[in-house]
Amino acid sequence: MQHLKHRVFSLIAIFSLLSCGEDSYDIEMLAYDFEADEIVTKVNTVKTLDDLGKLEGRATRLRGGLSIELDQISGMVRWNRVGTPVAFNALEIDNVYHPTDYNSLAMVSVYYNIEAIMLYMEALGMPKGKLGRIDTYYWADVTDIYSSGMGTVVKEKSTNNAFYLSLSQRDRGFYILPFDLSPKLLSQVDRVPLSMNPGVIAHEYSHAVFQELVLDSLPKGGVELAITPYNYLWALNEGIADIFAVASTGDTDFITASISDPTARRDALDVVEYKFSYDSNIRNKGTYFDDPYEIGQFFSATIYEIARRFQGLAPNGLTKADAPARREVARITYKALSALPKFGIHNFRPADFFTVFVSHVGPGRHETVCQVLSERFQIHYTEVEGCL
Ligand SMILES: [Zn+2]
Repeated sequence: MQHLKHRVFSLIAIFSLLSCGEDSYDIEMLAYDFEADEIVTKVNTVKTLDDLGKLEGRATRLRGGLSIELDQISGMVRWNRVGTPVAFNALEIDNVYHPTDYNSLAMVSVYYNIEAIMLYMEALGMPKGKLGRIDTYYWADVTDIYSSGMGTVVKEKSTNNAFYLSLSQRDRGFYILPFDLSPKLLSQVDRVPLSMNPGVIAHEYSHAVFQELVLDSLPKGGVELAITPYNYLWALNEGIADIFAVASTGDTDFITASISDPTARRDALDVVEYKFSYDSNIRNKGTYFDDPYEIGQFFSATIYEIARRFQGLAPNGLTKADAPARREVARITYKALSALPKFGIHNFRPADFFTVFVSHVGPGRHETVCQVLSERFQIHYTEVEGCL
């Protein structure tokens, strides 16, 4: 009996191994070449799919046909249609898969970009499967409902966007909205669609990581925090998302590929010094941020400059950090985020992040990190523990 039980167990184990097996496929897709600043078709190897026909794998699971209304007035989300599996159509020629329709081409590109940042995070130390399975709602029909301020209710279909949204602990997803590849659209996005921009996808994926490592340690994901620490954490969330996007792609100015409007620009190469107004903009307002990117860019530009100095580049120059230097700061950033909840975030302020960051840098690196902070974070430098 004992023996039989064991055999049944082994059979199940083999079966589940087979059904969860990840395969590699060489697939033609759309790719953004940031050096040439253009979208090209390219054959890339997708490594983590367990169902090619449905584009389902460890990185994400593509879903089509979703329709929701995000009602900002009542704070409700209404589901008109849930997502269903997609069909990926491709022709195999000499072991390379060539998508046979436009959606298949775009969908596999999205899968690949999500997989790329997931594998990057895993190389930094994120355990496999840490985020669980996050679905990607492709060509999602999303209607925003909000008040115009004059008492008029506005209903607007979102397009040309890609975002991460956590509706509840169990319902988290990436939303890829309808887009057009033709240039100069009558929209803010005038070049590379946001969902085809690897930096944007890495930025959104990083929000899911930040949620898992930091926000989920707080009751209700942090919504009950006082407004000031909430806003500082939000700015950190945006800054960290940019730093992982820049570290993984090497593109310091990845937003400009999609949105040429200079007010949206936030280049990690900019020299950004923390200003008194950053704090007063939060504290005097007493409500949620209008612009979390102001402090966000400070975080990403400061961490990027630390990567440049690790590499031995001249301070505040325009030479970009190489991949090993970027990976080093990204690894420290990942560790710092993991340790942040234990440090305490109920009264979070930017200096706390650097205190934890400094405690995770390797031997011989403290001086470099503290030097950058003394230059760029001068007004709060004495609040960073481990630098004086
Ligand atoms: Zn963001």
